[in-house]
Amino acid sequence: MKIYRLPALSDNYIFLLHDPNQNIGAVVDPAEVRPVQEKLELLGAELVAIFNTHHHSDHVGANQQLIRKFPKLKVYGGIEDRGRIPGQQVFLQEGDRVQFGQRVGEVLFVPGHTSGHIAYYFPPVVTGETGELFCGDTLFAGGCGRLFEGTPAQMVESLSKLRNLADNTRIWCAHEYTLKNLQFAITVDEQNADLKSRFAEVKEARSRNEATVPSMIGVEKRTNPFLRWDQPSMNLAVQSQDPVQTFARLRGKKDRF
Ligand code: ZN
Ligand code: FE
Repeated sequence: MKIYRLPALSDNYIFLLHDPNQNIGAVVDPAEVRPVQEKLELLGAELVAIFNTHHHSDHVGANQQLIRKFPKLKVYGGIEDRGRIPGQQVFLQEGDRVQFGQRVGEVLFVPGHTSGHIAYYFPPVVTGETGELFCGDTLFAGGCGRLFEGTPAQMVESLSKLRNLADNTRIWCAHEYTLKNLQFAITVDEQNADLKSRFAEVKEARSRNEATVPSMIGVEKRTNPFLRWDQPSMNLAVQSQDPVQTFARLRGKKDRF
């Protein structure tokens, strides 16, 4: 399975999965039609699936137009998003599996940013290979999604599921927010050497207009404050020993940053 990252709108990424054997494509969170259409034409592939993570318009905006162009495709989304995802036909919950070509994706229920948010995790087929996580607006490189429809406790539980994945899992998050996220991170975790060097690398990459997605779970565990609610440095930064309260205070600081 080949994964293409397609920039869309101002800072979204759409991910196009391609199976060269069957020459089929699937798209994660299509914000816009044009980049998807162009890539499919280049590949000469047929679109068979839309995998939506949540109902926000910058993730489902192209659903209807893509259905019109590819009437046989299936639209997947979370069961809690019933009625909120245009054209949805498959209603997924934690533990469900989705098939794409030879690959099988596992569904993780990760509410917090929205109440029905799901993530798709494709475990490695061969040992040593990367796993692939499509997590929408739940986990970002260096940050996490805002809590629009969920509680800090829900988000901590959701992020725990992602944090438990293998370190060499690639994180295909839906926005290029990394630089801003790390600008905040450095203010709450200034002693973190891994974070400092990551911040320098990301500044450099962004000045060359390079993408910083995908990230890796291992990197996020070391540098993303929103996966570090149980680290003494984070507890100290927000004066709390409680994981959920630590997370909530960090999220609050970021909202005001
Ligand atoms: Zn969103
Ligand atoms: Fe979004």
